[in-house]
Amino acid sequence: MDLTLSKDDLAFRDEVRAFLKDGVSDDMRRAVRLTTGFIYDPEVSLGFHKALTRKGWSVPHWPKEHGGPDWTAVQRYIFDTECARAGAPTHNASGSYFVGPVLIHYGTPEQKAKYLPKIVSGEDHWCQGYSEPGSGSDLASLRTRAVVEGDHYVVNGQKIWTTHAHKSNRIFMLVRTSTEGKRQEGITFLLADMNTPGIAVRPIRGNGGDHEFNEVFFDNVRVPLQQRVGEENKGWEVAKFLLEFERGGSLVAGRVRAQYAQLVKLVHERSPDDPDIAARLAEIGIDLDTMEMIDISVLSILQSGKNPGPISSLLKLRWSQIRQQVTELALETAGEDALRWEPLRPLYETLQLPPEEEELLALAPRYLNYRAYTIAGGTTEIQTNILAKTMLGL
Ligand SMILES: Cc1cc2nc3c(=O)[nH]c(=O)nc-3n(C[C@H](O)[C@H](O)[C@H](O)COP(=O)(O)OP(=O)(O)OC[C@H]3O[C@@H](n4cnc5c(N)ncnc54)[C@H](O)[C@@H]3O)c2cc1C
Repeated sequence: MDLTLSKDDLAFRDEVRAFLKDGVSDDMRRAVRLTTGFIYDPEVSLGFHKALTRKGWSVPHWPKEHGGPDWTAVQRYIFDTECARAGAPTHNASGSYFVGPVLIHYGTPEQKAKYLPKIVSGEDHWCQGYSEPGSGSDLASLRTRAVVEGDHYVVNGQKIWTTHAHKSNRIFMLVRTSTEGKRQEGITFLLADMNTPGIAVRPIRGNGGDHEFNEVFFDNVRVPLQQRVGEENKGWEVAKFLLEFERGGSLVAGRVRAQYAQLVKLVHERSPDDPDIAARLAEIGIDLDTMEMIDISVLSILQSGKNPGPISSLLKLRWSQIRQQVTELALETAGEDALRWEPLRPLYETLQLPPEEEELLALAPRYLNYRAYTIAGGTTEIQTNILAKTMLGL
Protein backbone atom coordinates (compact mmCIF):
# COMPACT_ATOMS: atom_id res chain seq x y z
CA MET A 1 0.00 0.00 0.00
CA ASP A 2 1.46 3.36 -0.99
CA LEU A 3 0.72 5.75 1.85
CA THR A 4 2.51 8.79 0.43
CA LEU A 5 0.17 11.77 0.25
CA SER A 6 -0.23 13.47 -3.14
CA LYS A 7 0.24 17.22 -3.59
CA ASP A 8 -3.53 17.73 -3.54
CA ASP A 9 -3.90 15.65 -0.41
CA LEU A 10 -1.16 17.64 1.33
CA ALA A 11 -2.96 20.86 0.38
CA PHE A 12 -6.17 19.39 1.77
CA ARG A 13 -4.38 18.45 5.00
CA ASP A 14 -3.17 22.05 5.37
CA GLU A 15 -6.70 23.32 4.85
CA VAL A 16 -7.98 20.96 7.57
CA ARG A 17 -5.18 22.00 9.93
CA ALA A 18 -5.94 25.69 9.38
CA PHE A 19 -9.62 25.08 10.07
CA LEU A 20 -8.86 23.14 13.26
CA LYS A 21 -6.49 25.80 14.53
CA ASP A 22 -9.40 28.24 14.82
CA GLY A 23 -12.19 25.69 15.31
CA VAL A 24 -10.87 23.90 18.41
CA SER A 25 -10.56 26.17 21.42
CA ASP A 26 -8.28 25.44 24.38
CA ASP A 27 -11.31 24.81 26.60
CA MET A 28 -12.70 22.32 24.12
CA ARG A 29 -9.36 20.52 23.87
CA ARG A 30 -9.11 20.33 27.64
CA ALA A 31 -12.67 18.96 27.95
CA VAL A 32 -11.81 16.29 25.36
CA ARG A 33 -8.65 15.32 27.30
CA LEU A 34 -10.62 15.11 30.53
CA THR A 35 -13.58 13.19 29.12
CA THR A 36 -13.24 9.75 30.63
CA GLY A 37 -16.36 8.07 29.30
CA PHE A 38 -17.27 6.73 25.88
CA ILE A 39 -18.59 9.82 24.23
CA TYR A 40 -18.38 13.55 24.53
CA ASP A 41 -21.13 15.55 26.18
CA PRO A 42 -22.98 17.69 23.63
CA GLU A 43 -21.94 20.66 25.79
CA VAL A 44 -18.37 19.81 24.68
CA SER A 45 -18.98 18.73 21.08
CA LEU A 46 -21.90 20.73 19.67
CA GLY A 47 -19.99 23.99 19.10
CA PHE A 48 -17.39 22.16 17.02
CA HIS A 49 -20.10 20.25 15.12
CA LYS A 50 -21.75 23.58 14.23
CA ALA A 51 -18.45 24.96 12.99
CA LEU A 52 -18.11 21.85 10.82
CA THR A 53 -21.65 22.33 9.53
CA ARG A 54 -20.87 25.88 8.43
CA LYS A 55 -17.86 24.54 6.55
CA GLY A 56 -19.93 21.67 5.00
CA TRP A 57 -17.88 19.02 6.84
CA SER A 58 -20.18 17.75 9.61
CA VAL A 59 -21.11 14.43 7.92
CA PRO A 60 -17.94 13.44 6.01
CA HIS A 61 -19.17 9.88 5.46
CA TRP A 62 -22.54 10.77 3.88
CA PRO A 63 -23.30 11.09 0.16
CA LYS A 64 -23.15 14.61 -1.27
CA GLU A 65 -26.90 14.79 -1.92
CA HIS A 66 -27.53 14.55 1.85
CA GLY A 67 -24.85 17.00 2.96
CA GLY A 68 -21.59 15.04 2.65
CA PRO A 69 -18.49 16.87 1.33
CA ASP A 70 -17.83 14.30 -1.44
CA TRP A 71 -14.35 13.44 -0.20
CA THR A 72 -12.11 10.61 -1.30
CA ALA A 73 -11.22 7.90 1.22
CA VAL A 74 -7.80 9.53 1.66
CA GLN A 75 -9.35 12.92 2.42
CA ARG A 76 -11.62 11.29 4.95
CA TYR A 77 -8.62 9.61 6.56
CA ILE A 78 -6.71 12.88 6.69
CA PHE A 79 -9.69 14.68 8.20
CA ASP A 80 -10.32 12.10 10.94
CA THR A 81 -6.64 11.82 11.81
CA GLU A 82 -6.15 15.58 11.98
CA CYS A 83 -9.28 16.04 14.13
CA ALA A 84 -7.99 13.47 16.61
CA ARG A 85 -4.52 14.99 16.60
CA ALA A 86 -5.99 18.47 17.25
CA GLY A 87 -8.05 17.13 20.19
CA ALA A 88 -11.40 17.88 18.53
CA PRO A 89 -14.51 16.13 19.89
CA THR A 90 -16.79 13.86 17.86
CA HIS A 91 -20.49 14.60 18.11
CA ASN A 92 -23.46 12.25 18.58
CA ALA A 93 -22.36 9.15 16.68
CA SER A 94 -25.85 7.68 17.20
CA GLY A 95 -27.12 10.35 14.81
CA SER A 96 -24.55 10.71 12.07
CA TYR A 97 -22.90 7.26 12.19
CA PHE A 98 -25.79 4.98 13.20
CA VAL A 99 -29.28 6.18 12.30
CA GLY A 100 -28.14 8.56 9.53
CA PRO A 101 -26.85 5.82 7.17
CA VAL A 102 -29.95 3.74 8.01
CA LEU A 103 -32.27 6.57 6.96
CA ILE A 104 -30.24 7.19 3.81
CA HIS A 105 -30.60 3.48 2.93
CA TYR A 106 -34.08 2.57 4.21
CA GLY A 107 -35.87 5.87 4.96
CA THR A 108 -38.87 7.22 3.04
CA PRO A 109 -38.37 10.56 1.21
CA GLU A 110 -40.38 12.23 4.01
CA GLN A 111 -38.20 10.68 6.73
CA LYS A 112 -35.05 11.75 4.91
CA ALA A 113 -36.34 15.30 4.53
CA LYS A 114 -37.44 15.50 8.15
CA TYR A 115 -34.47 13.95 9.96
CA LEU A 116 -31.28 14.12 7.90
CA PRO A 117 -30.85 17.92 7.79
CA LYS A 118 -31.17 18.09 11.58
CA ILE A 119 -28.41 15.52 12.01
CA VAL A 120 -26.23 17.55 9.64
CA SER A 121 -26.88 20.75 11.62
CA GLY A 122 -26.65 19.14 15.08
CA GLU A 123 -30.17 20.33 15.96
CA ASP A 124 -31.25 16.75 16.73
CA HIS A 125 -29.49 14.51 19.20
CA TRP A 126 -30.22 10.78 18.86
CA CYS A 127 -29.98 7.83 21.22
CA GLN A 128 -30.19 4.11 20.55
CA GLY A 129 -32.95 1.98 22.07
CA TYR A 130 -31.89 -1.59 21.32
CA SER A 131 -30.90 -3.35 24.59
CA GLU A 132 -33.41 -4.42 27.22
CA PRO A 133 -32.98 -6.18 30.56
CA GLY A 134 -32.30 -9.78 29.48
CA SER A 135 -31.98 -8.81 25.80
CA GLY A 136 -28.47 -7.57 25.11
CA SER A 137 -26.42 -10.18 23.28
CA ASP A 138 -29.64 -12.04 22.63
CA LEU A 139 -31.24 -8.95 21.13
CA ALA A 140 -33.87 -10.91 19.19
CA SER A 141 -35.53 -11.83 22.50
CA LEU A 142 -36.57 -8.19 23.08
CA ARG A 143 -40.04 -7.68 24.54
CA THR A 144 -40.90 -3.98 24.30
CA ARG A 145 -44.25 -4.27 22.53
CA ALA A 146 -45.80 -2.01 19.86
CA VAL A 147 -49.43 -2.49 18.88
CA VAL A 148 -51.17 -0.61 16.06
CA GLU A 149 -54.05 1.61 17.14
CA GLY A 150 -55.41 3.70 14.26
CA ASP A 151 -52.51 5.61 12.72
CA HIS A 152 -50.13 5.08 15.66
CA TYR A 153 -48.10 2.36 17.32
CA VAL A 154 -48.69 2.19 21.08
CA VAL A 155 -45.41 1.21 22.74
CA ASN A 156 -44.98 -0.38 26.19
CA GLY A 157 -41.80 -1.75 27.73
CA GLN A 158 -38.28 -0.84 28.82
CA LYS A 159 -34.86 -0.21 27.30
CA ILE A 160 -31.57 -0.18 29.20
CA TRP A 161 -27.98 1.13 28.77
CA THR A 162 -29.39 3.89 26.53
CA THR A 163 -26.37 6.15 26.13
CA HIS A 164 -27.17 9.86 26.42
CA ALA A 165 -30.96 9.29 26.51
CA HIS A 166 -30.98 12.17 29.01
CA LYS A 167 -29.33 14.46 26.46
CA SER A 168 -31.29 13.34 23.37
CA ASN A 169 -34.47 14.62 21.77
CA ARG A 170 -34.90 11.54 19.51
CA ILE A 171 -34.56 7.81 19.89
CA PHE A 172 -34.42 4.99 17.32
CA MET A 173 -35.63 1.73 18.74
CA LEU A 174 -36.49 -1.88 18.14
CA VAL A 175 -39.93 -3.08 19.22
CA ARG A 176 -41.81 -6.35 19.03
CA THR A 177 -44.76 -6.22 16.66
CA SER A 178 -45.36 -9.97 16.34
CA THR A 179 -44.83 -13.05 18.46
CA GLU A 180 -45.52 -15.46 15.57
CA GLY A 181 -42.74 -17.44 13.83
CA LYS A 182 -39.01 -16.78 14.27
CA ARG A 183 -38.21 -14.13 16.92
CA GLN A 184 -36.26 -12.03 14.40
CA GLU A 185 -39.32 -11.82 12.15
CA GLY A 186 -41.47 -9.99 14.70
CA ILE A 187 -39.26 -6.93 15.22
CA THR A 188 -39.86 -3.42 13.87
CA PHE A 189 -37.58 -0.33 13.78
CA LEU A 190 -39.22 2.88 15.02
CA LEU A 191 -38.19 6.51 15.49
CA ALA A 192 -39.65 8.43 18.43
CA ASP A 193 -39.44 11.89 19.96
CA MET A 194 -38.09 11.72 23.50
CA ASN A 195 -40.65 14.29 24.67
CA THR A 196 -43.60 12.06 23.69
CA PRO A 197 -45.88 11.57 26.73
CA GLY A 198 -45.20 8.24 28.46
CA ILE A 199 -41.39 8.18 28.02
CA ALA A 200 -39.42 8.31 31.28
CA VAL A 201 -35.60 8.30 31.61
CA ARG A 202 -33.78 7.05 34.72
CA PRO A 203 -29.98 7.46 35.09
CA ILE A 204 -27.41 4.65 35.52
CA ARG A 205 -23.91 5.56 36.72
CA GLY A 206 -20.95 3.80 35.13
CA ASN A 207 -18.22 2.30 37.31
CA GLY A 208 -16.00 5.34 36.62
CA GLY A 209 -18.72 7.57 38.08
CA ASP A 210 -19.87 9.11 34.80
CA HIS A 211 -23.55 9.40 33.90
CA GLU A 212 -23.63 8.25 30.29
CA PHE A 213 -26.33 5.63 30.14
CA ASN A 214 -29.90 5.22 31.33
CA GLU A 215 -32.98 3.11 31.58
CA VAL A 216 -35.84 4.31 29.36
CA PHE A 217 -39.43 3.35 30.14
CA PHE A 218 -42.34 3.40 27.66
CA ASP A 219 -45.87 3.62 29.04
CA ASN A 220 -48.50 3.73 26.28
CA VAL A 221 -46.26 5.88 24.10
CA ARG A 222 -47.95 6.81 20.81
CA VAL A 223 -45.62 6.78 17.79
CA PRO A 224 -47.05 7.74 14.37
CA LEU A 225 -46.96 4.89 11.81
CA GLN A 226 -44.95 7.17 9.48
CA GLN A 227 -42.06 6.91 11.96
CA ARG A 228 -41.48 3.25 11.17
CA VAL A 229 -38.31 2.60 9.16
CA GLY A 230 -38.61 -0.25 6.67
CA GLU A 231 -41.51 -2.68 6.76
CA GLU A 232 -43.31 -3.89 9.86
CA ASN A 233 -41.64 -7.05 11.23
CA LYS A 234 -38.57 -6.44 9.02
CA GLY A 235 -36.71 -4.34 11.62
CA TRP A 236 -34.07 -7.01 12.23
CA GLU A 237 -32.55 -6.38 8.81
CA VAL A 238 -32.42 -2.63 9.54
CA ALA A 239 -30.99 -3.29 13.01
CA LYS A 240 -28.17 -5.43 11.63
CA PHE A 241 -27.33 -2.89 8.92
CA LEU A 242 -26.99 -0.26 11.66
CA LEU A 243 -24.82 -2.48 13.87
CA GLU A 244 -22.25 -2.86 11.11
CA PHE A 245 -21.84 0.92 11.12
CA GLU A 246 -21.76 0.98 14.93
CA ARG A 247 -19.00 -1.62 15.05
CA GLY A 248 -16.86 -0.56 12.12
CA GLY A 249 -18.22 2.61 10.57
CA SER A 250 -15.85 5.18 11.92
CA LEU A 251 -12.11 5.63 11.93
CA VAL A 252 -10.85 5.18 15.46
CA ALA A 253 -7.13 4.92 14.74
CA GLY A 254 -6.51 8.66 15.20
CA ARG A 255 -8.32 8.75 18.55
CA VAL A 256 -6.48 5.72 19.92
CA ARG A 257 -3.20 7.09 18.59
CA ALA A 258 -3.76 10.35 20.49
CA GLN A 259 -4.22 8.40 23.74
CA TYR A 260 -1.25 6.21 22.87
CA ALA A 261 0.90 9.33 22.44
CA GLN A 262 -0.09 10.43 25.95
CA LEU A 263 0.84 6.98 27.22
CA VAL A 264 4.27 7.12 25.55
CA LYS A 265 4.87 10.49 27.22
CA LEU A 266 3.81 9.11 30.59
CA VAL A 267 6.12 6.10 30.25
CA HIS A 268 9.04 8.33 29.29
CA GLU A 269 8.42 10.49 32.36
CA ARG A 270 7.77 7.77 34.92
CA SER A 271 9.17 4.39 33.86
CA PRO A 272 11.72 4.95 31.09
CA ASP A 273 13.85 1.95 32.11
CA ASP A 274 11.26 -0.72 32.78
CA PRO A 275 11.73 -3.46 30.12
CA ASP A 276 8.33 -5.04 30.76
CA ILE A 277 6.51 -1.74 30.25
CA ALA A 278 8.65 -1.00 27.17
CA ALA A 279 7.74 -4.38 25.65
CA ARG A 280 4.03 -3.87 26.28
CA LEU A 281 4.20 -0.35 24.86
CA ALA A 282 5.85 -1.68 21.70
CA GLU A 283 3.29 -4.46 21.35
CA ILE A 284 0.39 -2.00 21.58
CA GLY A 285 2.13 0.26 19.04
CA ILE A 286 2.47 -2.60 16.55
CA ASP A 287 -1.17 -3.62 17.01
CA LEU A 288 -2.20 -0.01 16.51
CA ASP A 289 -0.28 0.24 13.23
CA THR A 290 -1.80 -3.01 11.98
CA MET A 291 -5.33 -2.03 12.89
CA GLU A 292 -4.89 1.37 11.28
CA MET A 293 -4.12 -0.35 7.96
CA ILE A 294 -7.34 -2.39 8.26
CA ASP A 295 -9.26 0.78 9.17
CA ILE A 296 -7.94 2.46 6.02
CA SER A 297 -8.94 -0.47 3.81
CA VAL A 298 -12.48 -0.43 5.26
CA LEU A 299 -12.68 3.29 4.68
CA SER A 300 -12.67 2.84 0.93
CA ILE A 301 -15.64 0.45 1.29
CA LEU A 302 -17.51 3.04 3.33
CA GLN A 303 -16.68 5.86 0.92
CA SER A 304 -18.16 3.84 -1.93
CA GLY A 305 -21.50 3.94 -0.06
CA LYS A 306 -21.50 0.29 1.04
CA ASN A 307 -21.82 -1.01 4.58
CA PRO A 308 -18.67 -2.54 6.04
CA GLY A 309 -19.86 -6.15 6.41
CA PRO A 310 -18.51 -8.70 8.93
CA ILE A 311 -15.07 -7.09 9.09
CA SER A 312 -16.78 -4.54 11.35
CA SER A 313 -16.76 -7.27 14.04
CA LEU A 314 -13.00 -7.67 13.72
CA LEU A 315 -12.51 -3.90 14.02
CA LYS A 316 -14.82 -3.69 17.01
CA LEU A 317 -13.16 -6.62 18.74
CA ARG A 318 -9.53 -5.57 18.33
CA TRP A 319 -9.98 -1.83 18.78
CA SER A 320 -11.86 -2.36 22.04
CA GLN A 321 -9.02 -4.57 23.31
CA ILE A 322 -6.32 -2.10 22.27
CA ARG A 323 -8.15 0.79 23.92
CA GLN A 324 -8.28 -1.21 27.13
CA GLN A 325 -4.58 -2.09 26.94
CA VAL A 326 -3.69 1.61 26.57
CA THR A 327 -5.70 2.58 29.66
CA GLU A 328 -4.38 -0.40 31.66
CA LEU A 329 -0.76 0.41 30.99
CA ALA A 330 -1.33 4.13 31.65
CA LEU A 331 -2.88 3.41 35.03
CA GLU A 332 -0.11 0.98 35.99
CA THR A 333 2.55 3.48 34.96
CA ALA A 334 0.97 6.35 36.89
CA GLY A 335 0.44 4.19 39.97
CA GLU A 336 -1.19 5.59 43.05
CA ASP A 337 -0.89 9.21 41.86
CA ALA A 338 -3.82 8.46 39.54
CA LEU A 339 -6.09 7.08 42.23
CA ARG A 340 -7.79 10.27 43.32
CA TRP A 341 -10.81 11.64 41.54
CA GLU A 342 -14.24 13.05 42.13
CA PRO A 343 -16.44 10.49 40.48
CA LEU A 344 -19.80 12.20 40.25
CA ARG A 345 -19.25 15.14 37.89
CA PRO A 346 -17.39 15.57 34.60
CA LEU A 347 -13.72 16.28 35.37
CA TYR A 348 -13.63 19.18 32.92
CA GLU A 349 -16.22 20.93 35.11
CA THR A 350 -14.68 20.18 38.49
CA LEU A 351 -10.90 20.26 38.25
CA GLN A 352 -8.70 23.32 38.44
CA LEU A 353 -5.19 21.95 38.44
CA PRO A 354 -2.09 22.18 36.25
CA PRO A 355 -2.67 20.18 33.00
CA GLU A 356 -0.30 17.28 33.88
CA GLU A 357 -2.08 16.72 37.21
CA GLU A 358 -5.50 16.89 35.62
CA GLU A 359 -4.53 14.28 33.05
CA LEU A 360 -3.27 11.94 35.75
CA LEU A 361 -6.62 12.17 37.49
CA ALA A 362 -8.45 11.20 34.29
CA LEU A 363 -6.59 7.87 34.08
CA ALA A 364 -8.49 5.89 36.74
CA PRO A 365 -12.05 6.75 35.68
CA ARG A 366 -11.05 6.22 32.03
CA TYR A 367 -9.57 2.82 32.88
CA LEU A 368 -12.78 1.86 34.72
CA ASN A 369 -15.12 3.15 32.02
CA TYR A 370 -13.13 1.50 29.24
CA ARG A 371 -13.77 -1.94 30.79
CA ALA A 372 -17.13 -1.55 29.05
CA TYR A 373 -15.57 -1.24 25.56
CA THR A 374 -15.56 -5.03 25.18
CA ILE A 375 -19.29 -5.07 26.07
CA ALA A 376 -20.81 -2.02 24.35
CA GLY A 377 -21.98 -2.49 20.76
CA GLY A 378 -21.85 -6.29 21.15
CA THR A 379 -19.53 -8.22 23.47
CA THR A 380 -16.18 -9.76 22.55
CA GLU A 381 -17.72 -13.24 22.70
CA ILE A 382 -20.47 -12.23 20.27
CA GLN A 383 -17.95 -10.67 17.85
CA THR A 384 -15.80 -13.81 17.91
CA ASN A 385 -18.93 -15.91 17.26
CA ILE A 386 -19.81 -13.71 14.26
CA LEU A 387 -16.25 -13.91 12.89
CA ALA A 388 -16.16 -17.69 13.34
CA LYS A 389 -19.39 -18.03 11.37
CA THR A 390 -18.99 -15.42 8.65
CA MET A 391 -15.25 -15.35 7.99
CA LEU A 392 -14.08 -18.82 9.02
CA GLY A 393 -17.25 -20.68 7.98
CA LEU A 394 -17.37 -22.57 11.30
C1 LIG B 1 -20.88 1.68 27.68
C2 LIG B 1 -22.08 1.02 27.08
C3 LIG B 1 -22.94 1.74 26.29
C4 LIG B 1 -24.07 1.13 25.75
N1 LIG B 1 -24.94 1.89 25.02
C5 LIG B 1 -26.06 1.32 24.54
C6 LIG B 1 -27.02 2.10 23.85
O1 LIG B 1 -26.87 3.33 23.67
N2 LIG B 1 -28.13 1.51 23.39
C7 LIG B 1 -28.35 0.18 23.55
O2 LIG B 1 -29.36 -0.30 23.07
N3 LIG B 1 -27.47 -0.60 24.23
C8 LIG B 1 -26.33 -0.06 24.73
N4 LIG B 1 -25.45 -0.82 25.43
C9 LIG B 1 -25.77 -2.22 25.73
C10 LIG B 1 -24.91 -3.23 25.01
O3 LIG B 1 -25.27 -3.34 23.66
C11 LIG B 1 -25.07 -4.55 25.78
O4 LIG B 1 -24.53 -4.35 27.07
C12 LIG B 1 -24.39 -5.70 25.09
O5 LIG B 1 -25.04 -6.02 23.90
C13 LIG B 1 -24.35 -6.96 26.01
O6 LIG B 1 -25.61 -7.26 26.49
P1 LIG B 1 -25.87 -7.48 28.06
O7 LIG B 1 -25.29 -6.33 28.80
O8 LIG B 1 -27.33 -7.77 28.22
O9 LIG B 1 -25.02 -8.77 28.44
P2 LIG B 1 -25.42 -10.29 28.19
O10 LIG B 1 -25.95 -10.44 26.81
O11 LIG B 1 -26.30 -10.72 29.31
O12 LIG B 1 -24.03 -11.02 28.27
C14 LIG B 1 -23.43 -11.40 29.52
C15 LIG B 1 -22.18 -12.22 29.22
O13 LIG B 1 -22.54 -13.44 28.53
C16 LIG B 1 -21.81 -13.57 27.32
N5 LIG B 1 -22.65 -14.17 26.26
C17 LIG B 1 -23.94 -13.87 25.99
N6 LIG B 1 -24.38 -14.58 24.93
C18 LIG B 1 -23.32 -15.34 24.52
C19 LIG B 1 -23.13 -16.28 23.47
N7 LIG B 1 -24.10 -16.58 22.59
N8 LIG B 1 -21.90 -16.87 23.33
C20 LIG B 1 -20.89 -16.57 24.19
N9 LIG B 1 -21.02 -15.69 25.21
C21 LIG B 1 -22.22 -15.08 25.38
C22 LIG B 1 -21.47 -12.13 26.91
O14 LIG B 1 -20.35 -12.10 26.07
C23 LIG B 1 -21.20 -11.48 28.28
O15 LIG B 1 -19.89 -11.76 28.70
C24 LIG B 1 -24.31 -0.24 25.98
C25 LIG B 1 -23.42 -0.97 26.78
C26 LIG B 1 -22.33 -0.36 27.33
C27 LIG B 1 -21.41 -1.19 28.18
